Amino acid sequence: MNDLHQKVQASHLKRNAYLYVRQSTLRQVFENTESTKRQYGLRQRAVALGWTEERVIVIDTDLGQSGASSDREGFQRLVSEVGMGHAGIVLGLEVSRLARNSMDWHRLLEICALTATLICDEDGVYDPAHFNDRLLLGLKGTMSEAELHVLRARLQGGILNKARRGELEMRPPVGLVYNSEGVLVLDPDRQVQHSLRWLFSTFARTGSACATVKAARQEHLAFPRRCARGAHKGELLWAELDHSQVLSVLHNPRYAGAFVYGRSQSRRSVDGATRVQRMPQDEWITLILDAHEGYICWDEFERNKQRLHGSAQAMGADRRRGPPREGPALLQGLVLCGRCGKRMTVRYHSRHGQLCPEYVCQREGIEHGEAICQRVPGTGVDQAIGALLVEAINPVALEVTLAVQRELQSRFDEADRLRHAHVERAQYECDLAQRRYMRVDPDNRLVADSLEAQWNEKLRAFGEASEEYARRREQDARVLTDEQRSAILSLASDFPRLWSDPGTADRDRKRMVRLLLEDVTLNRGEQISLQIRFKGGASRTLLLALPLCSWKQHVTPSAIVDQIDRLLDNHTTAQIADILNARGLTAGAGASFHRRLVARLVRDYRLKPRLERLRERGMLTLSEVASALQVTPHTVKIWLRHGLLRAHPYSDKNECLYEPPGEDAPRKAQGAKLAMRRLDGRVVVERAKEVQYAT
Ligand SMILES: [Zn+2]
Repeated sequence: MNDLHQKVQASHLKRNAYLYVRQSTLRQVFENTESTKRQYGLRQRAVALGWTEERVIVIDTDLGQSGASSDREGFQRLVSEVGMGHAGIVLGLEVSRLARNSMDWHRLLEICALTATLICDEDGVYDPAHFNDRLLLGLKGTMSEAELHVLRARLQGGILNKARRGELEMRPPVGLVYNSEGVLVLDPDRQVQHSLRWLFSTFARTGSACATVKAARQEHLAFPRRCARGAHKGELLWAELDHSQVLSVLHNPRYAGAFVYGRSQSRRSVDGATRVQRMPQDEWITLILDAHEGYICWDEFERNKQRLHGSAQAMGADRRRGPPREGPALLQGLVLCGRCGKRMTVRYHSRHGQLCPEYVCQREGIEHGEAICQRVPGTGVDQAIGALLVEAINPVALEVTLAVQRELQSRFDEADRLRHAHVERAQYECDLAQRRYMRVDPDNRLVADSLEAQWNEKLRAFGEASEEYARRREQDARVLTDEQRSAILSLASDFPRLWSDPGTADRDRKRMVRLLLEDVTLNRGEQISLQIRFKGGASRTLLLALPLCSWKQHVTPSAIVDQIDRLLDNHTTAQIADILNARGLTAGAGASFHRRLVARLVRDYRLKPRLERLRERGMLTLSEVASALQVTPHTVKIWLRHGLLRAHPYSDKNECLYEPPGEDAPRKAQGAKLAMRRLDGRVVVERAKEVQYAT
């Protein structure tokens, strides 16, 4: 006891005593009250060592938490109090109880040693700063961990042995229960049995888990679940069927009457979290077929698994962010839904032999058989992203960046000169102090001492200044050499070329996108909005017009219809087609115009036909002109050919309407059988007995 009091010093008593109380499980808290009482009893121990009641602080927030778990708030508080030097002593029933995890324990010991904090348990008081005490405490911690290990190994060994024999009782999935003899049988509840049989038969019929969910929703079927934890543990709940439940039922071999152990393994990862990993079937520890009753046979179970596997490859592989694949969708794995925030997946449609991507947010839809959240046509989005990247990585943009960088560089140089001057000055002062010290008479101790102190001071200042200089210089040295600069600039010209090169594989293009972009959030409203986040934090927003739906793409724009309407006054349909093509216009789906297309447009848009327009302008038909001139229609045609009459074609078969004959119209002549006349400098002889030229 003497020894104990030697360890407790006045400096310890000035600080607080911390009593750490913990029980691993809530059950222990209730049942093992004796241990809890003993733990609280240690408070008296602290008082006996000299702490006042009010300086003993009890930390009992970790009651009901396992020592092996990592998020014990109380233990963390204890460590921080010790670290800040608030603790004079830490008390615990068995010190091993402080931390069941050896790493935590040794860390606590280190901190206690540094802050001169004592540790006390039922056996005595330890000073972690003393080697012997630390050795003992370390041993206690190791023993405690070993104890835990042995306990666990013994328990698990028992479990494994039972599992190998197929006798281990495990929580059965819904639809199977243990009877009074401990044999697994189908749940006597007829409704539960019926629900499971319905699920298996629906999957057999539809072949898809998603379709099974949809069917359940259509028929408003509720599905049983067994509550795994909480106050209602073991009770049946009826709720809507969802996709993950269908999958877990179909993947569970127990429904096929098989006893299985070791389908999954849990592993502790670096960040302390526990991950459950599914094991492949040949690595299961135990698989005993026909161990008990089942809803399906083993063959059907295997068949179901294969079908699920097949559809997972077709549908499910794209759901999470995976490596870039061959398909052309540029943003595969990078798109987020602007409505619900979930990752969107890619679907392809084949149009005219080409794959057109579509980005779909379907996670919720699959899970609950609902309508999908949103779908965005991908072609336009991909084009916009491509254009944006080519624009972002162009020589001008990079040149500006490099110029800014050069500007910063020149400022660095200036700062560097200033800092260097500072170092030189410190060096000079240091040399000066040294010379003064050297020159002083060594017998004059007082002066010599003070000069030595000055010299030391200057030396220290010089050391600091040159260290600071070197550090800053290293920081600023992250500048580009000419070589690097030209490499960056050549990238700028290489990138667009590589991007648009048809030989570049889609997969490589996607890799480039992933190097440059963090993610893209899509939202489809009146327009498609793209929120693009670049690597490095920059972001951009683009707005795209929604692409026209298929039939709208084939509609001729109304401006072109108006043009046709105007052109009809003076041109035939064939002429109009030529004019429109010459103006570089295209019909709805990008096709060029032709006679029949224009004629159809005239008909479809109910434009006034050319014939009608000409008639309105008073044009006459052949027979009308003939009777007006009192000649035969044949004569009219001859006169027309010679340019004596004017006519306007209204169809593409050379049918025309004639302008009404005016004052200068030719008149019928009497007599002459043949007429000779000059036409364009040539002499033409024609049968013109009826012709009398007006001139
Ligand atoms: Zn969504």
